[in-house]
Amino acid sequence: MTLNTDWAVRWIKGSAAVVSEHRVELITLDREIGDGDHGENLDRGFSAVLPKLDDLPADATPGDALKLVATTLISTVGGAAGPLYGTAYLKAAGAVAGHAELDGEAVVAMLTAARDGIVLRGKAEAGDKTMVDAWTPAVDAASSALADGLGEAAILDAAATAAEAGARATEPLVARKGRASYLGERAIGHRDPGAQSSALLLRVAADAAAGV
Ligand code: ADP
Ligand code: MG
Repeated sequence: MTLNTDWAVRWIKGSAAVVSEHRVELITLDREIGDGDHGENLDRGFSAVLPKLDDLPADATPGDALKLVATTLISTVGGAAGPLYGTAYLKAAGAVAGHAELDGEAVVAMLTAARDGIVLRGKAEAGDKTMVDAWTPAVDAASSALADGLGEAAILDAAATAAEAGARATEPLVARKGRASYLGERAIGHRDPGAQSSALLLRVAADAAAGV
């Protein structure tokens, strides 16, 4: 499946659906090591994106669709995750600006820019028990998949699989950023909600590319 604007729109609609389906799970994870609003925040943000998709012009690019997500999340999602995800989508949009379709290199550039945006904004490093722990393995896996000559859908699949493993791998960690960092060792044994939501969103990107 070509990674054109239809793909981007399916990714965004699928993201809204998945965030809504996993709302309670994300709330529960955030209740364990944060303040319990992560699922609510993301659900509100992605729900607000949906009606705006109809306003995208016929010649909109995937980058235009991602930029719409960015501006909507920044204005509707509070907390840490709103600005972090907003920056991720904004940087991702910038990395693919002008492309009508994304090839493998563009996919890797998009994911890398998203991760770099999150790091720029939140200053978290790998192992700090944040969404970066899903994004960095995703970027690394996507880069390896590109180097191995895989196509766009397989690159996104590799990124999603690595993000899922990265999210699971936050469980034994102590948090060094965000609200969970106030808990010290009490955060051990709990999965980071932002890493989990990142893995969910990347899986939807891969599914949309695979035509699922
Ligand atoms: P808040 O913490 O303000 O309630 P959310 O609950 O929506 O915001 O989001 C929490 C998630 O944000 C965490 O699970 C973590 O993944 C992510 N996060 C928090 N601080 C940072 C940071 N400095 N860098 C990267 N991600 C962060
Ligand atoms: Mg929270």
